Amino acid sequence: MNKILEIKNLSKTFYDNKKHIALSDISFEVNEGEVICLVGPSGSGKSTLLRCIAGLEDIDEGEIVLLGKSAMEISDKHEVGFVFQDYNLWPHKTVLENIIFTPVLKGKMSTDEAKNMAKDLLKRFDLFEKKDSYPDFLSGGQKQRVAIIRALAMKPKLLLLDEITSALDPELISSVLNLIKVLAKEGQSMIVVTHHLKFATEIADKIIFLDEGRMVQQATARDFIYAQSNPRIEDFLKTFSLNKQEVNIYEGVDQFQAFQLGTLKRFKEGSAKYVVGSSGDRWFETMGSFYQTYEEERIKRKISWNMIMYNESPRDHDLRIKYPDLNVYRLIPKDMENPANYYVIEDVVVIQIFGKPGDEPVLIEIKNKDVAKSYMNYFNLLWERSAVIK
Ligand code: ADP
Ligand code: MG
Repeated sequence: MNKILEIKNLSKTFYDNKKHIALSDISFEVNEGEVICLVGPSGSGKSTLLRCIAGLEDIDEGEIVLLGKSAMEISDKHEVGFVFQDYNLWPHKTVLENIIFTPVLKGKMSTDEAKNMAKDLLKRFDLFEKKDSYPDFLSGGQKQRVAIIRALAMKPKLLLLDEITSALDPELISSVLNLIKVLAKEGQSMIVVTHHLKFATEIADKIIFLDEGRMVQQATARDFIYAQSNPRIEDFLKTFSLNKQEVNIYEGVDQFQAFQLGTLKRFKEGSAKYVVGSSGDRWFETMGSFYQTYEEERIKRKISWNMIMYNESPRDHDLRIKYPDLNVYRLIPKDMENPANYYVIEDVVVIQIFGKPGDEPVLIEIKNKDVAKSYMNYFNLLWERSAVIK
């Protein structure tokens, strides 16, 4: 794996009236395609750390190695994109002008190329019709998405996002978080400072906890939230209402893929996923080129599928033959009808609706212990009545 960023024993002290240690002996790495979430109480040094990485602050001790070079040697800091809480869009420029300004100025591309790229990005993130609007006429969520697109326009190797939803009204937050999920899926390396812990578990490869400038823990998203043993961090987690119950709906191919790849990060190594219903090869088709990434990760982490299907699709068949321990299939009895396709992981039920070929997929995620239990009971019942495929 390519290392994008390496932080070695970084320390940073501010001297105002008195000496103030903001960061103390921080070391970690970001590999290509990884998402690191930085969490910690206010004043713990999260913003300072991002500012050091972006070259906006000098460091006192340690080293920041970016793309194999000491950050001191890199004069063009555009390898790193930075988005702040308060958008910082230029008010006198339109959305399109905001996006193309820096890439054209820095000679990354011609004006025409920049415009085409900006239009593509705006289309992808549902903002195309706003291209000629001025920032004041956008909602906070739209402004923040434009700010992210503007950072992406420089094709940064590493994207730093500092509490970018903090200034948004609650109903606007999900549009921004969803955009970040899609970027995570596509392998954009990122360091994300966020207070949305559930979101963090869905995108983060690693969660780093900072407290008073020290790195207290580095853990997988799963271990951080669900297997936390550090009392200090447990206290911190309690201050967030980690919603125990919720229903989320995800529409479209981008969201579908982002959801599946994100969900995989929440599985424990060696755990099982229970799937009921026929999707034929629609699941594989909908995953598109991300199927490969998904499968590699799943095989690496030995996550098995227990499936009850109407028939075994060709792709399912190939997988079963290739990895006999990874997938177990049974056939739904002919007299039973079960038009939905759903799966259960721990306390979460995910219903997948593919519709007819060409339809946009829809995912419904229900997080509720009792609902999950009743689906699992039904799964077990079907499993007993289903024929084993040999
Ligand atoms: P966080 O983003 O986690 O809330 P910050 O990185 O903003 O925390 O701040 C970490 C500590 O460094 C805080 O105690 C803050 O007061 C201090 N600090 C940050 N920037 C400066 C500065 N420019 N001058 C003096 N102290 C600062
Ligand atoms: Mg901050």
